[in-house]
Amino acid sequence: MEIPMLTEEEWAQMSPHLTGAIEQIKRYREENNSSLAEANSKGFGREALRVYAELTGFQETNANALFHHRLSLYGPPCRSCGKPLRTPIASYCPMCGTERVAIDSTNEEPYGGPANGDA
Ligand SMILES: [Zn+2]
Repeated sequence: MEIPMLTEEEWAQMSPHLTGAIEQIKRYREENNSSLAEANSKGFGREALRVYAELTGFQETNANALFHHRLSLYGPPCRSCGKPLRTPIASYCPMCGTERVAIDSTNEEPYGGPANGDA
């Protein structure tokens, strides 16, 4: 199943709702001493899910999953299979193993070296 990823612009529209929902869930759990699963079942995050569905046409049902639907969390698409690389600094494709080619000509080093350990 393909999960649509949000661009930074779309993320900026959706994330305030998501942040608000997380606050509501936190408060609900504190006030009711409830489990996370119970708090999640109360429908917090509906607004974030609605905005996400509006932007992408995809009906996500788990607000927490929205945190992962952000394009900038991933690298550019693989030049061989087109799947997004796992992280912005990934050095090869997790799906087909194709090595990433640096597009940035100012960087002669291959991506993912130890120098990037802090990123
Ligand atoms: Zn690939």
